[in-house]
Amino acid sequence: MKKKFKVSLPFLIMLGMVLGILGGIPFQKNPEFAVEYIKPFGTLFLNLIKMIVVPVVLCSIISGVISMKDIKKVGSVGLKSVSFYLVTTAVAVTLGMVFANVSKVGTGFNLATEALTFESVETPSFMDTLLNIFPSNAVEPLVSATMLQVIVLALFFGFGIILAGEKGEPLGRLIDSMTDVCLQIMGIIIKLSPVGVFALLLPVVAENGPSVLLPLLKLIIVIYLAYIFHMAVVFSFTTKTMARMSPLAFFKGMLPAMTMAFSSSSSVGALPLNIECSQKLGAKKEITSFVLPLGATINMNGTSIYQGVCAIFIANVFGIHLTLTQQIMVVLTATLASVGTAGVPGSGVIMLSMVLQSAGLPLEGIALIAGIDRILDMGRTVVNITGDANCAICISKAEDRKAARKAAKAAAGGTVH
Ligand code: ASP
Repeated sequence: MKKKFKVSLPFLIMLGMVLGILGGIPFQKNPEFAVEYIKPFGTLFLNLIKMIVVPVVLCSIISGVISMKDIKKVGSVGLKSVSFYLVTTAVAVTLGMVFANVSKVGTGFNLATEALTFESVETPSFMDTLLNIFPSNAVEPLVSATMLQVIVLALFFGFGIILAGEKGEPLGRLIDSMTDVCLQIMGIIIKLSPVGVFALLLPVVAENGPSVLLPLLKLIIVIYLAYIFHMAVVFSFTTKTMARMSPLAFFKGMLPAMTMAFSSSSSVGALPLNIECSQKLGAKKEITSFVLPLGATINMNGTSIYQGVCAIFIANVFGIHLTLTQQIMVVLTATLASVGTAGVPGSGVIMLSMVLQSAGLPLEGIALIAGIDRILDMGRTVVNITGDANCAICISKAEDRKAARKAAKAAAGGTVH
Protein backbone atom coordinates (compact mmCIF):
# COMPACT_ATOMS: atom_id res chain seq x y z
CA MET A 1 0.00 0.00 0.00
CA LYS A 2 1.24 3.46 -0.86
CA LYS A 3 1.83 5.76 2.07
CA LYS A 4 0.60 9.32 1.52
CA PHE A 5 3.34 11.85 2.06
CA LYS A 6 2.06 14.96 3.82
CA VAL A 7 4.12 18.06 4.33
CA SER A 8 3.19 20.38 7.18
CA LEU A 9 2.26 24.00 6.56
CA PRO A 10 5.03 25.49 8.76
CA PHE A 11 7.53 23.46 6.74
CA LEU A 12 6.10 24.81 3.47
CA ILE A 13 6.17 28.36 4.87
CA MET A 14 9.82 27.90 5.82
CA LEU A 15 10.50 26.56 2.33
CA GLY A 16 8.75 29.60 0.80
CA MET A 17 10.89 31.82 3.01
CA VAL A 18 14.19 30.15 2.10
CA LEU A 19 13.31 30.06 -1.61
CA GLY A 20 12.24 33.71 -1.46
CA ILE A 21 15.54 34.76 0.09
CA LEU A 22 17.70 32.62 -2.20
CA GLY A 23 15.58 33.46 -5.23
CA GLY A 24 15.98 37.18 -4.56
CA ILE A 25 19.76 37.08 -4.96
CA PRO A 26 19.87 36.54 -8.76
CA PHE A 27 17.24 39.28 -9.14
CA GLN A 28 19.45 41.87 -7.47
CA LYS A 29 20.71 42.90 -10.90
CA ASN A 30 17.17 43.29 -12.20
CA PRO A 31 14.87 44.00 -9.24
CA GLU A 32 12.23 45.60 -11.50
CA PHE A 33 11.11 42.18 -12.71
CA ALA A 34 10.71 40.93 -9.14
CA VAL A 35 8.82 44.07 -8.14
CA GLU A 36 6.57 44.06 -11.16
CA TYR A 37 5.75 40.38 -11.53
CA ILE A 38 6.43 38.64 -8.20
CA LYS A 39 5.57 41.25 -5.58
CA PRO A 40 1.89 41.50 -6.70
CA PHE A 41 1.32 37.92 -5.48
CA GLY A 42 2.64 38.95 -2.08
CA THR A 43 0.40 42.03 -2.13
CA LEU A 44 -2.54 39.81 -3.02
CA PHE A 45 -1.80 37.61 -0.01
CA LEU A 46 -1.59 40.66 2.26
CA ASN A 47 -4.81 42.09 0.84
CA LEU A 48 -6.60 38.84 1.64
CA ILE A 49 -5.33 39.01 5.24
CA LYS A 50 -6.47 42.64 5.50
CA MET A 51 -9.84 41.67 4.02
CA ILE A 52 -10.54 39.19 6.81
CA VAL A 53 -8.99 41.15 9.72
CA VAL A 54 -12.12 43.15 10.60
CA PRO A 55 -14.62 40.24 10.54
CA VAL A 56 -12.20 38.00 12.51
CA VAL A 57 -11.51 40.56 15.24
CA LEU A 58 -15.14 41.76 15.45
CA CYS A 59 -16.73 38.31 15.60
CA SER A 60 -14.15 36.62 17.80
CA ILE A 61 -14.17 39.40 20.40
CA ILE A 62 -18.00 39.37 20.52
CA SER A 63 -17.88 35.53 20.82
CA GLY A 64 -15.28 35.77 23.55
CA VAL A 65 -17.37 38.27 25.50
CA ILE A 66 -20.55 36.21 25.18
CA SER A 67 -18.84 32.98 26.15
CA MET A 68 -17.82 34.55 29.48
CA LYS A 69 -21.56 35.09 30.11
CA ASP A 70 -20.91 37.63 32.81
CA ILE A 71 -20.06 41.29 32.25
CA LYS A 72 -18.10 41.44 35.50
CA LYS A 73 -15.89 38.57 34.33
CA VAL A 74 -15.32 40.28 30.96
CA GLY A 75 -14.34 43.42 32.89
CA SER A 76 -11.95 41.54 35.13
CA VAL A 77 -10.32 39.55 32.29
CA GLY A 78 -10.24 42.69 30.11
CA LEU A 79 -8.62 44.78 32.81
CA LYS A 80 -6.07 42.07 33.59
CA SER A 81 -5.13 41.60 29.94
CA VAL A 82 -4.91 45.31 29.15
CA SER A 83 -2.71 45.84 32.27
CA PHE A 84 -0.53 42.86 31.29
CA TYR A 85 -0.25 44.22 27.76
CA LEU A 86 0.63 47.76 28.81
CA VAL A 87 3.20 46.73 31.43
CA THR A 88 5.01 44.28 29.13
CA THR A 89 4.92 46.86 26.32
CA ALA A 90 6.47 49.56 28.51
CA VAL A 91 9.13 47.06 29.64
CA ALA A 92 9.76 46.21 25.98
CA VAL A 93 10.34 49.84 24.87
CA THR A 94 12.61 50.46 27.85
CA LEU A 95 14.56 47.31 27.06
CA GLY A 96 14.90 48.35 23.43
CA MET A 97 16.26 51.72 24.52
CA VAL A 98 18.72 50.14 26.95
CA PHE A 99 20.01 47.83 24.20
CA ALA A 100 20.32 50.77 21.80
CA ASN A 101 22.06 52.99 24.36
CA VAL A 102 24.52 50.31 25.43
CA SER A 103 25.41 49.31 21.87
CA LYS A 104 25.50 52.99 20.76
CA VAL A 105 23.73 51.89 17.60
CA GLY A 106 23.80 54.57 14.88
CA THR A 107 26.86 56.48 16.12
CA GLY A 108 29.45 56.94 13.42
CA PHE A 109 26.90 56.09 10.75
CA ASN A 110 27.76 57.68 7.42
CA LEU A 111 24.75 59.74 6.62
CA ALA A 112 23.73 61.10 3.26
CA THR A 113 20.88 63.27 4.51
CA GLU A 114 20.03 64.82 1.13
CA ALA A 115 18.58 61.54 -0.06
CA LEU A 116 16.28 61.14 2.91
CA THR A 117 12.64 62.09 2.66
CA PHE A 118 9.66 60.77 4.53
CA GLU A 119 6.01 61.80 4.70
CA SER A 120 4.90 61.83 8.30
CA VAL A 121 1.45 61.15 9.64
CA GLU A 122 -0.05 63.87 11.77
CA THR A 123 0.01 63.09 15.48
CA PRO A 124 -3.34 63.70 17.17
CA SER A 125 -3.42 65.05 20.73
CA PHE A 126 -3.81 62.68 23.68
CA MET A 127 -7.48 63.65 24.23
CA ASP A 128 -8.26 63.22 20.53
CA THR A 129 -6.61 59.80 20.60
CA LEU A 130 -8.79 58.82 23.54
CA LEU A 131 -11.93 60.21 21.93
CA ASN A 132 -11.12 58.53 18.63
CA ILE A 133 -11.38 55.10 20.24
CA PHE A 134 -15.15 55.57 20.46
CA PRO A 135 -16.83 55.54 17.05
CA SER A 136 -19.64 57.94 16.19
CA ASN A 137 -20.88 55.57 13.54
CA ALA A 138 -21.36 51.82 13.84
CA VAL A 139 -20.41 50.93 10.28
CA GLU A 140 -17.57 53.32 9.51
CA PRO A 141 -14.93 51.58 11.71
CA LEU A 142 -15.64 48.31 9.91
CA VAL A 143 -15.19 49.94 6.53
CA SER A 144 -12.05 51.89 7.38
CA ALA A 145 -10.62 49.02 9.52
CA THR A 146 -10.06 51.32 12.50
CA MET A 147 -9.22 48.49 14.84
CA LEU A 148 -9.56 50.16 18.25
CA GLN A 149 -13.05 51.31 17.28
CA VAL A 150 -13.86 47.81 16.04
CA ILE A 151 -12.89 46.47 19.48
CA VAL A 152 -15.15 49.00 21.23
CA LEU A 153 -18.01 48.09 18.90
CA ALA A 154 -17.42 44.38 19.58
CA LEU A 155 -17.43 44.95 23.34
CA PHE A 156 -20.72 46.88 23.21
CA PHE A 157 -22.37 44.22 21.05
CA GLY A 158 -21.07 41.46 23.34
CA PHE A 159 -22.43 43.25 26.42
CA GLY A 160 -25.73 43.92 24.63
CA ILE A 161 -26.15 40.25 23.76
CA ILE A 162 -25.46 39.18 27.38
CA LEU A 163 -27.87 41.78 28.75
CA ALA A 164 -30.62 40.86 26.26
CA GLY A 165 -30.65 37.35 27.80
CA GLU A 166 -32.84 34.86 25.94
CA LYS A 167 -33.65 37.36 23.20
CA GLY A 168 -29.95 37.90 22.50
CA GLU A 169 -29.20 34.19 22.19
CA PRO A 170 -30.01 33.79 18.46
CA LEU A 171 -27.64 36.65 17.60
CA GLY A 172 -25.02 35.14 19.90
CA ARG A 173 -25.29 31.81 18.08
CA LEU A 174 -25.09 33.56 14.70
CA ILE A 175 -21.94 35.40 15.75
CA ASP A 176 -20.41 32.18 17.10
CA SER A 177 -21.06 30.56 13.77
CA MET A 178 -19.67 33.64 11.95
CA THR A 179 -16.50 33.40 14.07
CA ASP A 180 -15.97 29.79 13.03
CA VAL A 181 -16.62 30.68 9.39
CA CYS A 182 -14.19 33.63 9.53
CA LEU A 183 -11.48 31.50 11.12
CA GLN A 184 -12.00 28.89 8.38
CA ILE A 185 -11.61 31.62 5.74
CA MET A 186 -8.46 32.78 7.50
CA GLY A 187 -7.32 29.13 7.40
CA ILE A 188 -7.75 29.07 3.61
CA ILE A 189 -5.78 32.31 3.26
CA ILE A 190 -3.06 30.96 5.55
CA LYS A 191 -2.75 27.90 3.28
CA LEU A 192 -1.64 30.31 0.57
CA SER A 193 1.07 31.68 2.81
CA PRO A 194 4.02 29.65 1.42
CA VAL A 195 3.45 31.33 -1.96
CA GLY A 196 2.63 34.66 -0.30
CA VAL A 197 5.79 34.58 1.78
CA PHE A 198 7.92 33.65 -1.21
CA ALA A 199 6.44 36.52 -3.25
CA LEU A 200 6.89 38.97 -0.38
CA LEU A 201 10.47 38.12 0.46
CA LEU A 202 11.96 37.74 -2.99
CA PRO A 203 11.50 41.41 -4.00
CA VAL A 204 12.77 42.54 -0.57
CA VAL A 205 16.03 40.66 -1.13
CA ALA A 206 16.16 41.73 -4.78
CA GLU A 207 15.66 45.40 -3.91
CA ASN A 208 17.63 45.55 -0.68
CA GLY A 209 20.71 43.57 -1.48
CA PRO A 210 23.80 43.66 0.72
CA SER A 211 24.37 47.34 -0.11
CA VAL A 212 21.28 48.35 1.87
CA LEU A 213 21.64 45.66 4.48
CA LEU A 214 25.27 45.98 5.49
CA PRO A 215 25.36 49.54 6.86
CA LEU A 216 22.27 48.77 8.87
CA LEU A 217 23.44 45.33 9.98
CA LYS A 218 24.28 46.56 13.48
CA LEU A 219 20.76 47.97 13.85
CA ILE A 220 19.24 44.65 12.73
CA ILE A 221 21.46 42.70 15.15
CA VAL A 222 20.70 44.99 18.12
CA ILE A 223 16.95 44.84 17.49
CA TYR A 224 16.95 41.05 17.10
CA LEU A 225 19.06 40.64 20.27
CA ALA A 226 16.52 42.77 22.14
CA TYR A 227 13.63 40.68 20.71
CA ILE A 228 15.31 37.47 21.83
CA PHE A 229 16.21 38.88 25.24
CA HIS A 230 12.65 40.09 25.84
CA MET A 231 11.19 36.71 24.98
CA ALA A 232 13.81 34.72 26.88
CA VAL A 233 13.65 36.85 30.03
CA VAL A 234 10.27 38.62 30.26
CA PHE A 235 8.08 35.89 28.74
CA SER A 236 9.97 33.13 30.55
CA PHE A 237 9.48 35.01 33.82
CA THR A 238 5.72 35.48 33.32
CA THR A 239 5.31 31.90 32.06
CA LYS A 240 7.11 30.52 35.10
CA THR A 241 5.52 32.75 37.75
CA MET A 242 2.02 33.44 36.42
CA ALA A 243 1.25 30.42 34.24
CA ARG A 244 3.42 28.10 36.38
CA MET A 245 4.58 26.39 33.25
CA SER A 246 8.00 25.50 31.88
CA PRO A 247 9.11 28.30 29.50
CA LEU A 248 10.65 25.66 27.24
CA ALA A 249 7.29 23.89 26.88
CA PHE A 250 5.68 27.27 26.18
CA PHE A 251 8.08 28.22 23.39
CA LYS A 252 7.99 24.72 21.90
CA GLY A 253 4.20 24.78 21.81
CA MET A 254 4.24 28.23 20.23
CA LEU A 255 6.56 27.30 17.37
CA PRO A 256 3.90 26.90 14.62
CA ALA A 257 2.32 30.30 15.40
CA MET A 258 5.76 31.93 15.68
CA THR A 259 6.77 30.56 12.27
CA MET A 260 3.57 31.92 10.78
CA ALA A 261 4.13 35.33 12.37
CA PHE A 262 7.73 35.45 11.16
CA SER A 263 6.82 34.68 7.61
CA SER A 264 3.58 36.67 7.28
CA SER A 265 4.63 39.69 9.41
CA SER A 266 1.02 39.87 10.53
CA SER A 267 -0.29 39.30 14.05
CA VAL A 268 -3.80 38.93 12.70
CA GLY A 269 -2.62 36.52 10.02
CA ALA A 270 -1.09 34.36 12.74
CA LEU A 271 -4.23 34.58 14.90
CA PRO A 272 -5.86 31.23 14.01
CA LEU A 273 -2.62 29.35 14.66
CA ASN A 274 -2.03 31.38 17.80
CA ILE A 275 -5.48 30.41 19.12
CA GLU A 276 -4.74 26.75 18.34
CA CYS A 277 -1.28 26.79 19.98
CA SER A 278 -2.50 28.64 23.09
CA GLN A 279 -5.38 26.23 23.57
CA LYS A 280 -3.05 23.24 23.18
CA LEU A 281 -0.89 24.83 25.88
CA GLY A 282 -3.87 24.89 28.22
CA ALA A 283 -5.53 28.28 27.70
CA LYS A 284 -9.34 28.15 27.84
CA LYS A 285 -11.33 28.84 24.66
CA GLU A 286 -13.36 31.63 26.27
CA ILE A 287 -10.13 33.41 27.23
CA THR A 288 -8.27 32.90 23.95
CA SER A 289 -11.20 34.05 21.84
CA PHE A 290 -11.28 37.34 23.73
CA VAL A 291 -7.68 37.98 24.80
CA LEU A 292 -5.91 36.93 21.56
CA PRO A 293 -7.82 39.05 19.01
CA LEU A 294 -7.55 41.93 21.47
CA GLY A 295 -3.80 41.34 21.75
CA ALA A 296 -3.35 40.99 17.97
CA THR A 297 -4.72 44.51 17.76
CA ILE A 298 -3.39 46.33 20.81
CA ASN A 299 -0.45 44.36 22.21
CA MET A 300 2.80 44.85 20.34
CA ASN A 301 5.86 44.10 22.47
CA GLY A 302 8.07 43.56 19.43
CA THR A 303 6.88 46.75 17.76
CA SER A 304 7.65 48.77 20.86
CA ILE A 305 11.17 47.29 21.16
CA TYR A 306 11.69 48.26 17.54
CA GLN A 307 10.41 51.78 18.19
CA GLY A 308 12.66 52.19 21.23
CA VAL A 309 15.79 51.04 19.39
CA CYS A 310 14.96 53.04 16.26
CA ALA A 311 14.39 56.25 18.23
CA ILE A 312 17.87 56.01 19.78
CA PHE A 313 19.38 54.90 16.46
CA ILE A 314 17.98 57.95 14.66
CA ALA A 315 19.06 60.27 17.49
CA ASN A 316 22.61 58.85 17.26
CA VAL A 317 22.72 59.05 13.47
CA PHE A 318 21.78 62.73 13.59
CA GLY A 319 24.09 63.33 16.55
CA ILE A 320 21.22 64.36 18.84
CA HIS A 321 21.54 63.76 22.56
CA LEU A 322 18.24 62.63 24.06
CA THR A 323 17.52 64.03 27.52
CA LEU A 324 15.87 61.86 30.16
CA THR A 325 12.53 63.63 29.57
CA GLN A 326 12.78 62.91 25.85
CA GLN A 327 13.59 59.25 26.60
CA ILE A 328 10.55 59.04 28.90
CA MET A 329 8.44 60.59 26.12
CA VAL A 330 9.68 57.82 23.82
CA VAL A 331 8.58 55.14 26.34
CA LEU A 332 5.14 56.70 26.75
CA THR A 333 4.42 57.38 23.09
CA ALA A 334 5.86 54.06 21.92
CA THR A 335 3.57 52.26 24.38
CA LEU A 336 0.55 54.18 23.06
CA ALA A 337 1.70 53.98 19.44
CA SER A 338 2.01 50.22 19.66
CA VAL A 339 -1.60 50.06 20.90
CA GLY A 340 -2.66 51.94 17.79
CA THR A 341 -0.57 49.77 15.45
CA ALA A 342 -2.71 47.38 13.41
CA GLY A 343 -1.59 43.74 13.31
CA VAL A 344 -0.71 43.88 9.63
CA PRO A 345 2.68 44.11 7.91
CA GLY A 346 4.48 47.43 7.99
CA SER A 347 2.17 49.34 10.32
CA GLY A 348 4.88 49.74 13.00
CA VAL A 349 7.01 51.96 10.78
CA ILE A 350 4.08 54.35 10.26
CA MET A 351 3.57 54.70 14.01
CA LEU A 352 7.29 55.31 14.46
CA SER A 353 6.82 58.83 13.13
CA MET A 354 4.52 59.56 16.07
CA VAL A 355 7.23 58.43 18.50
CA LEU A 356 9.92 60.48 16.77
CA GLN A 357 7.70 63.56 16.71
CA SER A 358 6.99 63.34 20.43
CA ALA A 359 10.71 63.20 21.20
CA GLY A 360 11.54 65.97 18.73
CA LEU A 361 13.58 63.66 16.49
CA PRO A 362 13.94 64.14 12.71
CA LEU A 363 11.34 62.15 10.80
CA GLU A 364 13.72 61.81 7.85
CA GLY A 365 15.42 59.07 9.87
CA ILE A 366 12.54 56.77 9.02
CA ALA A 367 13.62 56.76 5.39
CA LEU A 368 16.85 55.09 6.55
CA ILE A 369 14.97 52.26 8.21
CA ALA A 370 12.18 51.86 5.65
CA GLY A 371 14.40 49.79 3.32
CA ILE A 372 15.02 47.08 5.90
CA ASP A 373 11.69 47.35 7.67
CA ARG A 374 10.37 44.01 6.43
CA ILE A 375 13.30 42.20 8.04
CA LEU A 376 12.64 43.96 11.35
CA ASP A 377 8.89 43.43 10.98
CA MET A 378 9.24 39.65 10.75
CA GLY A 379 10.95 39.45 14.14
CA ARG A 380 8.76 41.99 15.88
CA THR A 381 5.60 40.18 14.79
CA VAL A 382 6.93 36.98 16.42
CA VAL A 383 7.45 38.87 19.70
CA ASN A 384 4.02 40.50 19.33
CA ILE A 385 2.06 37.27 18.99
CA THR A 386 4.15 35.39 21.56
CA GLY A 387 3.26 38.18 24.01
CA ASP A 388 -0.44 37.77 23.19
CA ALA A 389 -0.33 34.02 23.79
CA ASN A 390 1.72 34.51 26.93
CA CYS A 391 -0.93 36.83 28.35
CA ALA A 392 -3.80 34.49 27.36
CA ILE A 393 -2.14 31.50 29.03
CA CYS A 394 -1.16 33.42 32.19
CA ILE A 395 -4.68 34.83 32.60
CA SER A 396 -6.34 31.52 31.80
CA LYS A 397 -4.26 29.69 34.41
CA ALA A 398 -4.88 32.47 36.94
CA GLU A 399 -8.64 32.23 36.29
CA ASP A 400 -8.45 28.43 36.73
CA ARG A 401 -6.73 28.86 40.09
CA LYS A 402 -9.30 31.48 41.11
CA ALA A 403 -12.15 29.10 40.20
CA ALA A 404 -10.46 26.23 42.08
CA ARG A 405 -10.05 28.41 45.18
CA LYS A 406 -13.71 29.46 44.96
CA ALA A 407 -14.79 25.84 44.63
CA ALA A 408 -12.60 24.77 47.56
CA LYS A 409 -14.00 27.60 49.67
CA ALA A 410 -17.55 26.65 48.74
CA ALA A 411 -16.85 22.99 49.56
CA ALA A 412 -15.31 23.94 52.91
CA GLY A 413 -18.31 26.22 53.57
CA GLY A 414 -20.59 23.34 52.64
CA THR A 415 -19.04 21.04 55.24
CA VAL A 416 -19.37 23.70 57.94
CA HIS A 417 -23.08 24.20 57.45
N1 ASP B 1 3.56 43.60 11.58
C1 ASP B 1 3.31 43.83 12.97
C2 ASP B 1 2.21 42.89 13.46
O1 ASP B 1 1.39 42.47 12.69
C3 ASP B 1 2.93 45.22 13.29
C4 ASP B 1 4.08 46.14 12.99
O2 ASP B 1 4.29 46.49 11.83
O3 ASP B 1 4.81 46.48 13.93
O4 ASP B 1 2.17 42.56 14.62
